[in-house]
Amino acid sequence: MNIKTASRPIESLDDTHLHYDAMFAEAIATLKREGRYREFHHLQRQVGDFPNAYSHSTRKQITIWCSNDYLGMGQHPIVRNAMHKAIDTMGAGAGGTRNISGTHHAIMQLEDTLAQLHQKEAALVFSSGYVANEATLSTLGNVLKECIIFSDACNHASMIQGIKHSKATKKVFRHNDLAHLRSLLQESPKDVPKIIAFESVYSMDGDIGYIKEIVDLAQEFGALTYLDEVHAVGLYGAHGAGVAQRDGQMHRVDIIQGTLGKAYGVMGGYIAASHACVDMIRSYASGFIFTTTMTPAMAAGAEASVRYLMQHPELRTAHQQAAHALKQRFADAGIPYLNTPTHIVPVMVHDPVKCKRASDLLRDEHGIYVQPINYPTVPRGTERLRFTPTPMHTEAMMDELVEALVDIFQLCDIARTHHA
Ligand SMILES: *Cc1c(COP(=O)(O)O)cnc(C)c1O
Repeated sequence: MNIKTASRPIESLDDTHLHYDAMFAEAIATLKREGRYREFHHLQRQVGDFPNAYSHSTRKQITIWCSNDYLGMGQHPIVRNAMHKAIDTMGAGAGGTRNISGTHHAIMQLEDTLAQLHQKEAALVFSSGYVANEATLSTLGNVLKECIIFSDACNHASMIQGIKHSKATKKVFRHNDLAHLRSLLQESPKDVPKIIAFESVYSMDGDIGYIKEIVDLAQEFGALTYLDEVHAVGLYGAHGAGVAQRDGQMHRVDIIQGTLGKAYGVMGGYIAASHACVDMIRSYASGFIFTTTMTPAMAAGAEASVRYLMQHPELRTAHQQAAHALKQRFADAGIPYLNTPTHIVPVMVHDPVKCKRASDLLRDEHGIYVQPINYPTVPRGTERLRFTPTPMHTEAMMDELVEALVDIFQLCDIARTHHA
């Protein structure tokens, strides 16, 4: 955003326009008063130097500790080569929507690979994971008459929006509360369509949804299951198909949704499901139909990444080891982390101002980047720093991080746990 450009003479500017800007400024002022105004950190990732980046803000090198590029695939030579090759053979853009000359070879291959990954009849690619959730859930709720969607209270904003935009009745069950879900299913009419929408890895608390138990309930009550595996694809299961694969439940989940932008390191989202389900979404979902297809380079890069991670379980092992090692160090140093069963390591600060200050100090004084997570992303009082160690974070980087955290917790007066 460059506010200086507003001083150009713009002939269409009139009083009305100035009023609108005042309203926008008021909306922003509200966020600032509540300490919720978001500031982005200007970073430049550098190929070959993962997980380090150049910070344009501090003009120094910085180590990134909160990336969703969980395995550094965003700069893997296999992925970059596939993208270069696609650009040089197929060009930059897709040339239209899927309907208007946009169904190129790279996206067909990607969908084939994704269907194979999840052992489903078909897959469908969207512009992002957000769009995949929003478009699929809103379409399901519109097409299935009188549908009720049961939604975990911690579901991602994209699922919440999709459900809101559908005509379905929404029933929210308390996070991971199977008894509550059961009681909501029990009190619903037997003969109406039902969907249970939930996640495998919840990205803020790093906990895991009860996939088997929820699919059991779905079978008992005749519901469809919709599972967001965004923070698990590439990372869990023998081929990186997610927690449902790891737990032997993948064939029982009706619709699996994932992203190509996190562990796979590129961009885009998808669903994998039965042929009939995918064909229906393809035919009815506005967010799929009326937008230009993902570029050949993105599709080719993502496909290369998915295929690579299918064949490299050792990266998943190293990833879990990195998370384990960091938790161990936090425990030894009395850093109050959540002992999650996943690769996500939240450190609790319980105060929005201290959380932001700790993040700023880590960045400016220690060359460490971890963004503060405050309300509304998490409930007030549970403010935190969220660490996502990768196999590329070295022991020395972990030592530096722990030392910096000990220092900054003292400076910011953030409570530590007792030493073990
Ligand atoms: C990031 C995220 C999404 C959206 O995926 P994008 O590809 O980034 O649009 C969906 N669900 C969850 C749980 C996420 O964390």
